[in-house]
Amino acid sequence: MPTTDRTMIVTGGSKGIGAAIARAAGAAGYRVALTYRSDAAGAESVARDVEKAGGEALVISADVAREEDVLALFSAVDATFGPPDVLVNNAGGVGPLGRLEAISAAALHDVLAINVVGSFLCCREAVRRMSTGKGGRGGTIVNMSSRAAELGGAGEWIHYAASKGAIDSLTAGLAREVAVEGIRVNAVAPGLIATDLHAAAGAPDRLARLGPAVPMQRPGTAEEVAAAVLWLASPASSYVTGAILPVSGGR
Ligand code: NAP
Repeated sequence: MPTTDRTMIVTGGSKGIGAAIARAAGAAGYRVALTYRSDAAGAESVARDVEKAGGEALVISADVAREEDVLALFSAVDATFGPPDVLVNNAGGVGPLGRLEAISAAALHDVLAINVVGSFLCCREAVRRMSTGKGGRGGTIVNMSSRAAELGGAGEWIHYAASKGAIDSLTAGLAREVAVEGIRVNAVAPGLIATDLHAAAGAPDRLARLGPAVPMQRPGTAEEVAAAVLWLASPASSYVTGAILPVSGGR
């Protein structure tokens, strides 16, 4: 049975970790606004799962790297569900696999625009609505970092790791900036998680190759990341802010 009466925005909810977060939020009774960039069918299918689980769902097409899309996303949520209680900044991409000397300026701009600018813009719109200093009723923000931020992504994607390092700084700074305005800001830092991301980046064998080197000797699941996100979003973590929670099997 639904256990909450709150609205959660999940960016990148059409597949992978975002889809698992949206489904878990539906099972917890959230009204879930989930976004996609290209996979409309995936997003609609996740929305049906949210509804079957007892939640309400709203599907919105939005490229988080585009300010006009982010503004339209928050306006749509305002109009349908009212101001959000939870923002999960999950949408992200890794860009091309390869060493630093091979990356193009265009690819670098693209990965930073999605992962960093997109998360900043969504945080800005959420704070404008949630801040008790601006008439809001507070809320929680959960950012999607990665263990790559600390490990560095050598040989694969330093650009991606650096974008997640920026997410850690965003989390630390914003948590302190809005701590007395009723908003908690945390991040999860997944390790190696079994989603389409690896194959889509051109490394279909990555999970099998790197899984045994994880201290728990396996990749994690999207559901295991979602459980951590739901906890950080909930009042059960009421004294936690500015935390970056590894969900990585020890990686
Ligand atoms: P995924 O399966 O590739 O899903 C990525 C999601 O992000 C999709 O819903 C995609 O939408 C959306 N997206 C991508 N670019 C977007 C944009 N510009 N605007 C809006 N949405 C966009 O990846 P995942 O593994 O679930 O990853 C989700 C998050 O976890 C990412 O931030 C990733 O960096 C992080 N993470 C993943 C792992 C891992 O091992 N999988 C580890 C650490 C961190 P469409 O499909 O509709 O285009």
